[in-house]
Formats: sequence, C-alpha cells, structure tokens
Amino acid sequence: MRGDEYPGVMTGKVMPSGRRYYAGNLTGKYNHPEDGTRCIAEVQWRGYSFPRYSQCRGKRGKGPGGLFCAIHAKVIEREKAR
Ligand SMILES: [Zn+2]
Repeated sequence: MRGDEYPGVMTGKVMPSGRRYYAGNLTGKYNHPEDGTRCIAEVQWRGYSFPRYSQCRGKRGKGPGGLFCAIHAKVIEREKAR
C-alpha cells in the first residue's frame, strides 16, 4: 500500500524484491532504484507537461527510521498530529 506508512508523504514503490524504486523519467515506469543516502520521499517535479516523480534530493537522517530529510520529517510529524 502507498501512503499509509508515512502520512502525507509518498515514498516511491517497493517492488516484490523488497527494493524501493522511483519513476524519475518520462515513461513513468518505476525504474530508478533508491539512493541510500537520500531522503526516501517521492517528490513531484513541476514544469513538465505531465507529472514526474523522483526521490527527494535531501539528505536522510530525520523522521521515522532516520529515512527522511528535515523537510519531509516535518511533514510526517504534522500529518501524524492531525
Ligand atoms: Zn525529503
């Protein structure tokens, strides 16, 4: 399931292999493996004719499991408090 684990933040797609992937290209296929040094949030890039999603460029270390950047850790905290 998407979106339940970390409220308010999308976190890519976990494949049956257990590895997390991001789209990050124009085909919309989830074929970019997670970068283990970066925040696992999935962000939308604007300025294209259709949405593109890829892994946040922030450095991880905050939030649940230390998997998020400071910005996304705050989003999760705020959503959980609601
Ligand atoms: Zn982030």
